Amino acid sequence: MKVICVGRNYKKHAQELGNEVPEEPVLFMKADSSLMRQRDAFYIPDFSSDVHYEAEIVIRINRLGKRIQSKFAPKYYAQYTIGIDFTARDVQKKLKEKGLPWEKAKAFDSSAVCGDWLDVEGVDLDNLKFELKKNGEIVQSGNTKDMLYPINDLVEHASEYFTLKIGDLIFTGTPEGVGKVESGDVLEGFIEGKQILRVRVK
Ligand code: ZN
Repeated sequence: MKVICVGRNYKKHAQELGNEVPEEPVLFMKADSSLMRQRDAFYIPDFSSDVHYEAEIVIRINRLGKRIQSKFAPKYYAQYTIGIDFTARDVQKKLKEKGLPWEKAKAFDSSAVCGDWLDVEGVDLDNLKFELKKNGEIVQSGNTKDMLYPINDLVEHASEYFTLKIGDLIFTGTPEGVGKVESGDVLEGFIEGKQILRVRVK
């Protein structure tokens, strides 16, 4: 399986990192080995001293497809959750300055974690409130209605380039409020007020 991620899909987040608002979805990938195996604990890697959390809505592909039109995209996923796209911001900054690929900053081991999976049926994924709390305080608060490219458009765009396979994940981008994690932090993800994810940082 692969993990497709979307960068700069919320205007205020693009701006907080000094990036331009993109003219088409910005896509990058994480490796299957970037999925955190022990879901409850994230270990800060030695090569970074500035790992950031990025809370995002994630969908899981349940049907093989390529060149999927946006209007048919809902047939290709049935579950969603909140996840964290851990990012070694210091590493990413260096790579970006040199115009190099982001994988070392984005696709390292355990850099992706997902909460409990929820059924899409009856849920409006284009109007979903989600939050991340760090040590009990809200640090990110977003709504999928603020996405520059809504979920079904992302499925269309991604599947133009990459065949989507069963089990593939799409991380749909983070709203503003990203920040550094420290050893001892507790991160909790909520969708519509319900806790779906809990990760301790070590
Ligand atoms: Zn992200």
